[in-house]
Amino acid sequence: MKRPAACLFDLDGLLLDTEPHHASAWSQAAAYFGLLLPPDQLLGLRGRRRSDNVDQVRTWIGESGQVVPTAAELLAVQQPIAQRLLRGAAPMPGARGLLERLRDLEVAMALVTSSGREAVERKCAPHPWLGIISERVLGDDPELTAGKPAPDPFLLAAQRLGVTPGNCWAFEDSLAGARSARAAGCVVYVVPGTELPAAALSRLEASADHLLASLEDLRLG
Ligand SMILES: [Mg+2]
Repeated sequence: MKRPAACLFDLDGLLLDTEPHHASAWSQAAAYFGLLLPPDQLLGLRGRRRSDNVDQVRTWIGESGQVVPTAAELLAVQQPIAQRLLRGAAPMPGARGLLERLRDLEVAMALVTSSGREAVERKCAPHPWLGIISERVLGDDPELTAGKPAPDPFLLAAQRLGVTPGNCWAFEDSLAGARSARAAGCVVYVVPGTELPAAALSRLEASADHLLASLEDLRLG
């Protein structure tokens, strides 16, 4: 197999098992304001920036006929829950081994995440192996205009590494992330969560060049 010029990694749900915690925090916060979020709406929040999710959840609360909290009021409920839960996030299977192998093969790498700097630092702190990836495009990156599913985050990562997006392998677990990487022209590897309903899985498949059951399954030449 031909090696890529660079590998671009999503963080949440791809390298770290954070998505159940994010979903739980949004679910509990929405419930606090009177809205029970069904699983398909929770899935729709995956891979996106916090600010985009705040707007989305406030819209859903309004549509349900409840009083809409301000963004600050919503985050005041959601953030403490998320921060408490995320402290215990485990690595995804094969994540650490893959980064170590790519480092040994001298393949360039970047983290391309919708999470902002403070959240990334908090989530990465218990996992020093994530420091193998030195280039980072974050959700609150000052050079970033639009977040996933727009192509901007992956385009910016390729630009910073000095490589062509089409020569990059992008690794994603969410639909927003896979669509972002696809729109940027990357070769898209998707590692879907195991608990996905069939409809969500087929939407993910449509945005993927390759599906992997786990990062352990990637073969490098
Ligand atoms: Mg993700």
